[in-house]
Amino acid sequence: MAAPLKILQYPHKALREPTHQVTDFNDALRQHVQQMLSLMYEDQAVGLASTQVGLTYRLFVVDVSPQQNQPECFINPEIIESCGTKLYEEGCASFPGLYAKVLRADTITVQYYDEFGEKKTQKANGLAANCIQHELDHVNGILFIDRLSKLKKMMMLKKYEKLNRVTDE
Ligand SMILES: [Zn+2]
Repeated sequence: MAAPLKILQYPHKALREPTHQVTDFNDALRQHVQQMLSLMYEDQAVGLASTQVGLTYRLFVVDVSPQQNQPECFINPEIIESCGTKLYEEGCASFPGLYAKVLRADTITVQYYDEFGEKKTQKANGLAANCIQHELDHVNGILFIDRLSKLKKMMMLKKYEKLNRVTDE
């Protein structure tokens, strides 16, 4: 049984850790996917990436369905097409209480593998597209505050410090 995972909060250094491609679609991987989904639902989040729980796979989980009953897992994800732009208000499980409008592509096509190693392609727009881009950023060590202007980022971090007692690890 894999060790229990937990959601790590900014500024935990795991959030900036480099990740590697998944090559072995084994039971340990699927257990991590299940644990990440549980944590995501517990947190009432729409997505959770490996780096947010201290894992270094290229992997994230998402569920943007209204009932939160359509879990999806994206492994070795790659956006192969994107068009349009849209401002979306985003939050992040690693930044409790913090929200900011982030400009992202409106429609994307993403190529990925599921937890059994099956290659898939999905076209997404709206919340799903936004969520996938946010989570894929995590896998690349990029946080949503990095997508803001320098000034806005500074203001958000000040607000975050006030909201949460930030401790460095
Ligand atoms: Zn996030």
